[in-house]
Amino acid sequence: MEYIGIDVGGTNLVAGLVDERGAILQKVSRPVDRSMSDRALCRELSLLAEEVRLAGGLSRQDVQAVGVGLPGLVNNKQGVVVTTANMPFRDTPLRELFQQEWDVPIYLGNDANCAALGEYWAGAARGCNPTVMVTLGTGIGGGMVVNGKLFTGCANSGMEVGHMVIHPGGHLCGCGYRGCWEQYGSATALIRMTRQAMEKAPDSRLWALCDGDPEKVQGRTPFQAAKEGDATASQVLEEYRQEVAIGLINLINVLQPKVICLGGGISHAEDELLLEPLRELVERGSFDKRMPTRLVRASLGNDAGVVGAALLCKAV
Ligand SMILES: [Zn+2]
Repeated sequence: MEYIGIDVGGTNLVAGLVDERGAILQKVSRPVDRSMSDRALCRELSLLAEEVRLAGGLSRQDVQAVGVGLPGLVNNKQGVVVTTANMPFRDTPLRELFQQEWDVPIYLGNDANCAALGEYWAGAARGCNPTVMVTLGTGIGGGMVVNGKLFTGCANSGMEVGHMVIHPGGHLCGCGYRGCWEQYGSATALIRMTRQAMEKAPDSRLWALCDGDPEKVQGRTPFQAAKEGDATASQVLEEYRQEVAIGLINLINVLQPKVICLGGGISHAEDELLLEPLRELVERGSFDKRMPTRLVRASLGNDAGVVGAALLCKAV
C-alpha cells in the first residue's frame, strides 16, 4: 500500500511516495513560486504528486491516499486551507481543486502536526504514546499524536504550543499577544538574544564568527562560540535553555507525553549544549519527579513532514 505525502514549505514543495510503515520510497521536489495564485499552486501540487507516482512506477489506482502538509491553519473536514503564513492560500478549497485532477482521498494537515506524525511513525518517537513534537524554528511549532491520531482540538489549532504565554506582558508576538513562548524559545529569539549580548561584549568570539556583522548571526552561531569556550555565548545559551525548558515543563505537566521530540535547526546542537542541560532543567521543574517523559532529538529532519502528510489518512 502506497501513499503520497506533500510538504508545502516556504522554499520547496516536496512530494514523497511512502509505504504503510512510513518509509519513503521515492521523493521529488521543486522550488515554490510564492507569487503564484493559490489555484496555480494547487495545480503544482497535483503535478508533483503525478511526478512521484511515475517515479515509483505506480498506477493511480495503487495510490491509497494523498496528504498535504501546509504552514498554516487547515480544515481537513471541509478540505479547505483556511490561512497560511507567507503563502497565497486563503480559504482555498484544496481538496476540491486537487480532486478535479485526481480521484483519490486527500487529507490536509498543519506542517507541525505532520512532522509529529512522521516522527511517530518512522522517527525518534516511533510508537510512543502520546508523542509530542516541538519544532524550534522561525517560531515554535507543535503537534501531538495520541493513540495514533492527531490531537488538534475542536477547531484545528489545538497544539499551537508556540503561543503558550510564559512571560506576561513580555515581547509582542505575531499573534497579537505578549510573552508567547516562541518569542523566547525559537531560533529567531536565540538570534535576537545573541545579538543583544554581543553588543555588550566587544571581545566575544561571536564577533569573529559572524565577520563582525551581527546581521550574520544564525541559530548555530552561539553554539559554535560556546564550543570554542566563549563566555558570552555560554551565558546566552544558558538563558535560552531556561526559556525553552519553561515551555517543555508546561507541556509535560499538562500532557505527560511518553516522548517530546525536539526538531528544527536548533535541535542539531551538540547534546552537551542543548539536550543534556535541557533534560536537567526539565527534570527539576516537572511535577512528576519520576520523569516518565523522554526528551529526544527528532530524527527525520524535513522528511518527517512528508511521511506525516502521507499517513494523515490514518491519523485524522
Ligand atoms: Zn503568540
